[in-house]
Amino acid sequence: ATPTAIMVGSGVGLNRGILFKTAAVLEGIAKLQAIGFDKTGTLTKGTPEVTDIVAYGDFTEKDILRIAAAGENPSIHPLAQAVVAKSKLEELKIENVENYREEAGYGVTCSYQGKTLLIGNIKLMDLQGVDIGESEQDFRRLAESGRTTSFIALDGKVIGLIALADVIKESTIEAIKRLHNLGLKTFMITGDNKKVANVVGEQVGIDEVIAEILPQDKISIIKKYQDQGYKVAMVGDGINDAPALAQADIGIAIGSGTDVAKETGDVVLVRNDLLDVERAIRLGRKTLGKIK
Ligand code: ADP
Ligand code: MG
Repeated sequence: ATPTAIMVGSGVGLNRGILFKTAAVLEGIAKLQAIGFDKTGTLTKGTPEVTDIVAYGDFTEKDILRIAAAGENPSIHPLAQAVVAKSKLEELKIENVENYREEAGYGVTCSYQGKTLLIGNIKLMDLQGVDIGESEQDFRRLAESGRTTSFIALDGKVIGLIALADVIKESTIEAIKRLHNLGLKTFMITGDNKKVANVVGEQVGIDEVIAEILPQDKISIIKKYQDQGYKVAMVGDGINDAPALAQADIGIAIGSGTDVAKETGDVVLVRNDLLDVERAIRLGRKTLGKIK
């Protein structure tokens, strides 16, 4: 593309809230063949809500919510904030915990009234040697309905489950369709459970779903596509996505995201509208003179 074309292209992008960091990005985006998306906060709104609470033994649903909120209160993870929000809605008092530790892609570990409290996914339970026992059936049922489910375990025993559902963004289905019309392959990379991810993937019509991936392993998925010869973009919003955004040929940060993602991104979509992904690619192609 000529320098003038690039200036014009960047200017048009700017007016639409599509920021290209460098001129090379505008050319690079025209050549993309595959595009990956983070699930939570990118394909979905990223503001999950508690839908179900299951309690075992002598515990009530209120107990489960109260104990989970205590453990999740220090966390800024969207799942954690949803649990805390629900407990506030129910006017429960938020208790203090000690020795709080959060493991990305797993969940939270802490001490609650002298007992070890775990809140997280099945991988966290496996890692800590917790037998999920009778909760397995409930977990399966909830996951198959597309809900992200956290196990709540106290001193090595599952005392309850909390299921959360996230809403797909209005423009997601149309955005994926338009990218397919441009001839791109689409995929989702998420740390969430496979069953949940597959339900979301089917709803949005994405080509491939890659789930139960730890934040640090998201890079290797991008590399796999690159090794197969694809020019790959990654779209994300979270802190955890920054390495994958950096590994991709083009990293695309969306508006609602963290500053880290915005710094790492080659393209920043200010309006938090997934349709802008396709607009950015078309703008790049137009600048390169591939389409009129
Ligand atoms: P994503 O790839 O969808 O952005 P993350 O990598 O942030 O997801 O988290 C992956 C999974 O780790 C979540 O689906 C959840 O099961 C678990 N997890 C992480 N943090 C927490 C937390 N604070 N509370 C409960 N579960 C958590
Ligand atoms: Mg994330």
